[in-house]
Amino acid sequence: MPLRIPPEGTGPPASPPTHDGRFASLSLDLLCIIDEDDAIIQTNRVWLDALGYPTEELGSSLFIDLCWTEDRLAVADALAQLDAGTPSVRFDCRLIGRDGEQHWYAWQITRDPQNGLGYGIGRDISVQKHTEQMLAYQTHYDVVTGLPNRYLFHNRLDQEVIAARAAADSFALCVIDLDRFNQINDALGHAIGDEVLAFVALRLRSLVGSHALLARMGGDEFTLILRQIQSPEEAIARAGRILAVLEQPFPVRGQELFISASIGVSLFPRDGQDAMTLLKHADSAMYRVKATGRSEVGIFEPSIGAAARWRLDIEQQMRRALSLDQFELHFQPLLDLPSRKVVAVESLIRWRHPDQGVIMPGDFISVAEETNLIEHLFSWGLVEACRRAVVWQRAGRRPLRMAVNISARQFERADLVERVAEALLVSGLDPRWLELEITESMLMRDPEGSAVRIRRLHVLGVRVAIDDFGTGYSSLAYLQRFPVERLKIDRSFIWALGSEPDPESSAAALLRAITAMAHSLRLKIVAEGVESAGQHQFLAGLRCDEVQGFFYARPTSADALWDVIAKIEGS
Ligand code: C2E
Ligand code: MG
Ligand code: MG
Repeated sequence: MPLRIPPEGTGPPASPPTHDGRFASLSLDLLCIIDEDDAIIQTNRVWLDALGYPTEELGSSLFIDLCWTEDRLAVADALAQLDAGTPSVRFDCRLIGRDGEQHWYAWQITRDPQNGLGYGIGRDISVQKHTEQMLAYQTHYDVVTGLPNRYLFHNRLDQEVIAARAAADSFALCVIDLDRFNQINDALGHAIGDEVLAFVALRLRSLVGSHALLARMGGDEFTLILRQIQSPEEAIARAGRILAVLEQPFPVRGQELFISASIGVSLFPRDGQDAMTLLKHADSAMYRVKATGRSEVGIFEPSIGAAARWRLDIEQQMRRALSLDQFELHFQPLLDLPSRKVVAVESLIRWRHPDQGVIMPGDFISVAEETNLIEHLFSWGLVEACRRAVVWQRAGRRPLRMAVNISARQFERADLVERVAEALLVSGLDPRWLELEITESMLMRDPEGSAVRIRRLHVLGVRVAIDDFGTGYSSLAYLQRFPVERLKIDRSFIWALGSEPDPESSAAALLRAITAMAHSLRLKIVAEGVESAGQHQFLAGLRCDEVQGFFYARPTSADALWDVIAKIEGS
């Protein structure tokens, strides 16, 4: 007997307003009718295809009996709401297939008050759930080293403080920062840089054991907790051993690489009663070491505040640099993958220091983030990037999308949209050529406020891309709340593929899942950090939309850009 779909108005609409408005295709959905006791009285063929149940076999099984045990409570709650008169309920649950496997579905069940029957539509969300689970791992762990990341570390440090307080124990917190690591990156490439980071993690891990709390905070910075430390001297001695171990040469691709590190230490409870304070103090001890010559251990000393002075110094230097025009923008092409044409450039800031040469954003943004200066700098960068785009267009170049990074501080400003509008106005750039890159963690800090801001930018005609996607993740479906155009997958995901990607690897599976999900959400995917032909081929196979990376071009000066583009496009 064919399944009867009630006419509009009396039952569920034929094309259901699903959780998020996608996958509206009925033919792949499970359909069922349940009676007043929530027993299944009819199903469609998809039950057979997807779960292995012919209609006869389901007989009058209770809906809940087909649900995975852990989900039954939530399903019972939803069905109880139906019984209590709620016209329609939605829930996600796993159904048990005939093979005993679990399959995720998003259900909408609508009760017809006339006949008491419930009409259910279940949409397969297994891929989404799987992707979310894989991404949940990446929310807490660093892909390059496999160590806990910043978020997980903060969490664990809080627990550590509570436990130590309860046991009247003390511990040392070490912030370990590699010295001049960007030189390794610059000279040997980021792939080798990442390999070195993985080696460092391994060496630290084997020194401190698997129970020690060790994390990668980002970049070249690691944190470590040394438990049951009784005195500052003991902390310094143990941290000194870490330094010694790191100074042993690293065998990387047939070469011996030497690195050194600067370690800052703070002690609980001596230097702080909570995680934040301890971290701040270990950090400032580390900065002091850096300022006074690197490759040493420094313990927090409240009176000195040298770190503060160092920050002040860089602030003053940056202030001078701004007035002396020492900042400049470099541009890195983004290619449309199928046609291999350059369709956009990302503007990346550089500081041309008279003594230190070119300083990369990673080396001054984090230090200067706490000052107002960074705002001046980025506002300058925004206007300058728009201006540059207009200069090219007026010179008869074909228009390119100009992608500009927005810092957390800029994004949080109440007048962000006005600032952007002003930059467009003073430069004369048509808004459709501007795209702002906002990181996922910035969105998630204040989701409601972010949604409002992004909508306003959208109204202005400016596009928005989510940068470094996958590093500050909460939920893929969540991103639908924001009218964004593009996801830029964080380059750590591309790095994880290796230079010759194995399609069977978990990194490949994860990328495949992210791309499929993003496309189903009608988002374009940009892969950044593409460094090899193998990665390019793999991404082409995934139907990734755009690509960016050293394989095509490094960020280049404005003057050199069009020659670089001509070279990439082979004309
Ligand atoms: P991002 O927005 O994720 O920028 C991409 C970074 O990846 C750039 O680093 C770029 O040089 C690097 N990159 C590009 N292709 C490859 C590749 O194939 N392999 C590897 N390993 N790296 C690649 P960069 O220029 O050091 O910038 C770092 C970050 O600093 C940017 O990350 C962005 O968050 C921030 N930043 C740079 N310029 C600005 C700016 O004008 N305003 C703001 N707010 N932030 C900026
Ligand atoms: Mg970016
Ligand atoms: Mg990025």
